[in-house]
Amino acid sequence: MLSDDKLRNKDKIIERIWKIRDYIQELENVKEGIIHFLLSRKKLDNVTKDLWISDVKGLYYNTVSAWEMLNSASKGNLKFLDKSKNFLHNARSLLAKIISELKFFKEELVLNLITEIENSFEKCWSAFYNEFDILTPEKKSTKHFERVIKVSDSEYHLPCSVCGKNSVECKIGYGRFDEHESLVYSGITHSRSLKKNLASELFKYLKKENLAEVHSFMKDYLCYEGMDAYCPECDKIYCWEHYNARVEYDDGFYDCTYGECPAGHGRMIDD
Ligand SMILES: [Zn+2]
Ligand SMILES: [Zn+2]
Repeated sequence: MLSDDKLRNKDKIIERIWKIRDYIQELENVKEGIIHFLLSRKKLDNVTKDLWISDVKGLYYNTVSAWEMLNSASKGNLKFLDKSKNFLHNARSLLAKIISELKFFKEELVLNLITEIENSFEKCWSAFYNEFDILTPEKKSTKHFERVIKVSDSEYHLPCSVCGKNSVECKIGYGRFDEHESLVYSGITHSRSLKKNLASELFKYLKKENLAEVHSFMKDYLCYEGMDAYCPECDKIYCWEHYNARVEYDDGFYDCTYGECPAGHGRMIDD
């Protein structure tokens, strides 16, 4: 049986979650404004126009889906919490994309549209995160997670140091387009295959739980940014959410991803 207090809290959560719909309604109005703007511009070919309009719609519908998942999570099914976060983060990536697309038009009106959509989404974002913080089970925030999980002799996982979510996988196997067995790296921004004969060196560092060496190995063989989920200053692993990863776009094209860890260390994690 729920105590009166708990029932009251539950009522309040449900009330607040319903209120988020007002923010989403505002976002819908801004969405309509931007679509109207894009449709009225002659400077853009129709294919690009359609793509950019679908980005604006995508931002809105991802936010709506995030709300539906949050609503289910608030009724006690916490597996929907992660799904809600995923939709909201997709929406934030699309926001960055939309802003880069709007900047294509060198008009004053564009600055207003950008401010409107940024403010409107920011309201949604903070309202969602208020509920995420309340609904996230407490044990998660105080638990200490392993640095490296050895799954087998040929597979290692690196969990997020904040929530324990699996953030990096290194294993011998087949990447998406591999014809031969490779050393497959899957991080928070991308997956790539390296030559299989590099595995023994990497696994040696993983066995020692030496993340700094794993990072510098990745800098040598994977990419300049090294291990995307790793903050060198903290010497810790963070998932997409806890690295506060943000995608940047240039005229609608992917540019790079920045991360900022909970301690405020920022760096480019994918280019
Ligand atoms: Zn995390
Ligand atoms: Zn850090």
